[in-house]
Amino acid sequence: MCLFCKIVRNEIPSNKILEDDEFVAFHDINPKAPLHILAIPKIHVDSFNEVSPELMAKMTTFIQKIVQEVKIEKSGYRVITNIGDNGGQEVKHLHFHILGGAKLKWDHFSDSDPQGHF
Ligand code: AMP
Repeated sequence: MCLFCKIVRNEIPSNKILEDDEFVAFHDINPKAPLHILAIPKIHVDSFNEVSPELMAKMTTFIQKIVQEVKIEKSGYRVITNIGDNGGQEVKHLHFHILGGAKLKWDHFSDSDPQGHF
């Protein structure tokens, strides 16, 4: 069973923020911003490549609830999902990073072409 499936089942502890029948949100263990939350579906979906439009629609509503809960909807935030090797996906269970609490940088996405021309 994957790491995030174990978090869903409370077999691994997590610092949960919000939960409903289909989704859970918890603090990232290695935060890359003052606020770094992960939002995941409870059912196992490998990545964004496999998610259905129906689940994605509900995920959108869930993410909107999270940012209201932690009060960053006005100050702003970033939503990221990493996909596959080039995307830097380490945990193969669909998750959305929600980053906020500070002005976020926007640079250096590729080590192989630091000039940014791909
Ligand atoms: P990704 O690289 O997009 O697959 O993101 C995986 C994220 O999961 C990383 O930001 C990790 O810091 C985070 N992570 C790994 N293990 C845990 C855990 N037990 N609890 C919370 N976050 C975790």
